[in-house]
Amino acid sequence: MFRKILIANRGEIALRVIDACKELGIATVAVYSEADRNSLHVRFADEAVCIGPAKSSESYLNIPQVISAAEITNVDAIHPGYGFLSENANFAEVCEASHITFIGPSPDLLRMMGEKDQARREMAAAGVPVVPGSQGIVPDETAALAEAGRIKYPVIVKASAGGGGRGMRVVRSEDELPGAFGTARNEAQQAFGVPDVYLEKFIERPRHIEFQVLGDKHGKVMHLGERECSIQRRHQKLIEESPSPAMDPRQRKELGARVVEALEQIGYSSAGTVEFLMDEDGSIYFIEMNARIQVEHPVTEMVTGVDLIKSQIRLATGEKLADVVGKPVTRGHAIECRINAEDPETFVPSAGRITVFRTPGGPGIRVDTAAHADGVIPPYYDSLVAKLIAFGDTRAESIARMRRALEMFVIEGIKTSIPLQRKIMADVDFAEGRFDTHFLDRFATSSAG
Ligand code: ADP
Repeated sequence: MFRKILIANRGEIALRVIDACKELGIATVAVYSEADRNSLHVRFADEAVCIGPAKSSESYLNIPQVISAAEITNVDAIHPGYGFLSENANFAEVCEASHITFIGPSPDLLRMMGEKDQARREMAAAGVPVVPGSQGIVPDETAALAEAGRIKYPVIVKASAGGGGRGMRVVRSEDELPGAFGTARNEAQQAFGVPDVYLEKFIERPRHIEFQVLGDKHGKVMHLGERECSIQRRHQKLIEESPSPAMDPRQRKELGARVVEALEQIGYSSAGTVEFLMDEDGSIYFIEMNARIQVEHPVTEMVTGVDLIKSQIRLATGEKLADVVGKPVTRGHAIECRINAEDPETFVPSAGRITVFRTPGGPGIRVDTAAHADGVIPPYYDSLVAKLIAFGDTRAESIARMRRALEMFVIEGIKTSIPLQRKIMADVDFAEGRFDTHFLDRFATSSAG
């Protein structure tokens, strides 16, 4: 087992990793930017190292600084959390070269899954159904027109290096394509430093469904069921749940088996998430794989009883999957609301000082957060304030628990998404599981009218 781990992240996920390390008896090192000096991850880690100014490019994304902190404190491993350096293959390589275990898949796998067009090809070759689309990167407008004609409109232009819902453009007809193609390439270049884009059939009313997987370093992979993440704004998730109300046991079994087989073939290890879109007739297609722990991992933890972070750490030491998780039995239903510091109507971020912070509790409620009264949500990073998770024996019970927990979660001083999430929990379509990725558009219009 590792002796000491450095956590190359901040906020709730840094605390979540500290929790896991404490339970495993592993010492922890926090790294922090100047803006996070008074953060809880700094307080609760055994050691803490300042790695630079507020801007993430100079601190949390600064590979030499993170590696120096790891060397000075003499850690065995680095947990990258999500975002920041978590899917950075170069970082994973530098860790390896410095004899520090990167808690995640190998650099080669990070590279493969980081290039979404390559991930599509690999998954298709391994027998997983993928969204119909171009055969890889589309080099120019002429090729884009030809590919779109073959795929048939509407299509979506996507950045191969994309993430966070950025670098996507929906195109409904041939005359819109050249403009959208150019804009998507520019956006991709600006946001990710590479202009490469590919095309996919645009699925009109999809549900977003993803499988949680764990793999060991001995070739074994398993899945821990699915999460439904269709409640999104700007292609970003706001509410997630497990299991999905749209997936029947047979489909889960069949698709789950295909995912496991494909990832064993590819040689995946550590935690990961395989994302799919389900169209209106129930067909399901791969869109991408996230080769890291996901924000919404707690809903899977609640229904399977598996601690995904502890599992990730143990798998990174070379332990076998069978010894780490055994055969988990899924039970009940869990929902997560991402409580963001943002205006609940316009989604404009709302950084600032929290004056009152009262978290709910009671049966079935879990809150993952690094926020507290008199704490500051800095403008430099993502706007996540807390993750509120409700577990129940049934979906109806988890909704009821989420409703009362949202009523009793008091945050003052900043605007949050709570008012919107309260409305969603009271919505009949949501209660009946009738929704797709456009649910929030409809909701915003109907609640405004
Ligand atoms: P990112 O890596 O930026 O999160 P994804 O490929 O995971 O991008 O897609 C994010 C979201 O964008 C999906 O959950 C879905 O709402 C929408 N989306 C992506 N591809 C398609 C598609 N082919 N058709 C319809 N919606 C899509």
